[in-house]
Amino acid sequence: MGDSLHDSDDNPRGLYFLVDLVNTVRDGGPATANALRAVVERHGGPPLALDETTARQFREAAVGLSRILDLHDEDQAAEAINALLDRYPARPRLVRLPGRPWSLHTRTPEHAHPAEWLLSTAALALALWLGERGRCAWGRCAAPGCDRYFIDAGRRAPQRFCSTRCGTRVRVATHRARQIR
Ligand SMILES: [Zn+2]
Repeated sequence: MGDSLHDSDDNPRGLYFLVDLVNTVRDGGPATANALRAVVERHGGPPLALDETTARQFREAAVGLSRILDLHDEDQAAEAINALLDRYPARPRLVRLPGRPWSLHTRTPEHAHPAEWLLSTAALALALWLGERGRCAWGRCAAPGCDRYFIDAGRRAPQRFCSTRCGTRVRVATHRARQIR
């Protein structure tokens, strides 16, 4: 059975799941097993059996992935992603879910530890993305006090903010500061 993250056209291969997860883990207090499960389910992922121990490992895995999202040098990022692929092979295969076209899926959590499932899924997603874009098309929001990770799916200028909300907030603040002067 294929059980993976269902990507829509505007969701490049589970990467929005990845940043959502990393942001949840890095947002203040410890993300509970319920919060982690909710993130996976929100992105169409499989139901995960997380207890205290596996939830902690899941969080640690997410923090490890955030270190890759902190990289801006594509050579360093490729090296880090390759190391992850070596350690957690995704073993992808094509799966046809009822009423859907063939699509690529990674190993299911029934066959792997939840944290291993996360790392192998993320390694493949990041590898495909880096290969497609040829650069580290991700980053952290430049808005003061935000710092959330984002996937840069834009084709033109590099993205600076995690959301239009943050972009607008900064633009309005800059505009006000100019008027005061
Ligand atoms: Zn932001």
